[in-house]
Amino acid sequence: MTSTDAPAPAAQTFTSLDPATGEVVGTHPVHDVAAVDAAVATARRQAEWWRALGFDGRKQALVRWRKGIARRMDELAALMSRETGKPRGDALLETALAVDHLAWAASHAEKVLRRRSVSPGLLMVNQAASVEYRPLGVVGVIGPWNYPVFTPMGSIAYALAAGNAVVFKPSEYTPGVGEWLAATFRETVGRPVLQVVTGYGETGAALTASGVDKIAFTGSTATGKRVMAACAETLTPVVIEAGGKDALIVAEDADVAEAAEAALWGAAANAGQTCAGVERVYVHDRVYDEFLEELVSQAARLEARPGGQVGPITMPSQVDIIRRHIDDALARGGRALVGGPVPEGARFVQPTVLVDVPEDSAAVQEETFGPTVTVARVASIDEAIERANGTRYALGSTVFSKEQGMAIAERLRAGMTAINGVISFAGIPTLPFGGVGDSGFGRIHGPDGLREFTYPHAIARQRFKPAIALTTFRRTAREERQLAKVVRGLYGRGRS
Ligand code: NDP
Repeated sequence: MTSTDAPAPAAQTFTSLDPATGEVVGTHPVHDVAAVDAAVATARRQAEWWRALGFDGRKQALVRWRKGIARRMDELAALMSRETGKPRGDALLETALAVDHLAWAASHAEKVLRRRSVSPGLLMVNQAASVEYRPLGVVGVIGPWNYPVFTPMGSIAYALAAGNAVVFKPSEYTPGVGEWLAATFRETVGRPVLQVVTGYGETGAALTASGVDKIAFTGSTATGKRVMAACAETLTPVVIEAGGKDALIVAEDADVAEAAEAALWGAAANAGQTCAGVERVYVHDRVYDEFLEELVSQAARLEARPGGQVGPITMPSQVDIIRRHIDDALARGGRALVGGPVPEGARFVQPTVLVDVPEDSAAVQEETFGPTVTVARVASIDEAIERANGTRYALGSTVFSKEQGMAIAERLRAGMTAINGVISFAGIPTLPFGGVGDSGFGRIHGPDGLREFTYPHAIARQRFKPAIALTTFRRTAREERQLAKVVRGLYGRGRS
């Protein structure tokens, strides 16, 4: 790396803090427009080298990085745990899933993206048709703090495997994790094909305006709209992975104890700060009481505290949103069977089970992002589906049923559905991950996630002269009649 290969030194710095203790975890540069532009310029040079490595060379490099992360995953988990407050075990699980995705992306990029032949169709039978998926160049990745490794790696690993260089802007709450990822890439691969720029929202805004070839944004819907508007100025394409308000449906034939366990974990793991976490539960009348009893007894045993299974709320301002949702639910006739109002100044929010909450209240319609869940009784599965589909968000979803899982899943408006499990789709590298509606668009993970960071290049190669010459001014009226006859023969008859 030359001296011009690093973002320019920043005049300003900021600190990341341990949300449980307020202790400083690290000090990081605030990269301004000039520093972001310098990083993108470096990435452009690196992108050439990276692309020229080809699928095999990139795979070998990514395997080295994968091994480096896997060997040092305790170190990464410890740093993540300090910056976010999440329990060490959760941080390890997150790292493990990210490594699994990296392994899949590295080993499948060639199969998914290399040039392949496609049928030229009957009218163009004289042509050989093929398509390949080419890297875009430089991808800007803007990530959130809640899963600061797993979530951005869903873009970073797939963009790199597809042949792009990446400039990553982590959340201001988790800059150390971002720097760790870029540093280990550099150590194992030897080139800054992945770089990190740190700072506040302005640094992210500078990245969207920097002329990168695509922005992969993960964060709130509101910021996603701002990012998209900024990208429109330069016609920079975007992937938006935004918030969710995921529902879990418990059918009358569900294993109720397992459904309750899944609902609680889906709602309170990572202190509820999960884009595809469970925020609403709809339970069939016949099993409602049994489910609620089970959920309440399990939730009452769970405590948010330092060193506990439920950590602090990472972002202080989020506590106000959670408090508002709970207060509004209670003011409108809801009841908290576990947990309740959040005390002023609290950094830990206790797991909270809310019932009798009106369907149009904030706790049911807006993303809460805390360890809370609303539970509602439904008279039928039709009602459960209608209510599950009834928010502006549509990210993930969950169904518990022994017999009707697939039938219910197929009627849910969501990017993903887990049946008799929870958030299981996120850990399966072959499945695409992303939302519709206010949850965003575009996909990370799987073959779709690789193609998201490419553009298709189509080639039509003439193999022999066509029987009827169509694309020439020498075309005759007789040939036009022949064409009409062929099309009537091919498509004007038969039933399908
Ligand atoms: P934010 O929208 O606040 O921030 C996301 C990222 O955007 C941060 O790095 C932030 O920087 C940056 N940013 C802020 N303003 C701008 C701007 N004008 N231009 C460019 N970048 C900007 O989200 P959170 O970090 O609070 O993350 C939580 C949200 O993420 C939740 O809504 C959650 O549902 C969603 N999410 C979605 C996932 C999915 O895959 N669908 C997965 C995980 C989370 P800074 O932090 O420095 O302000």
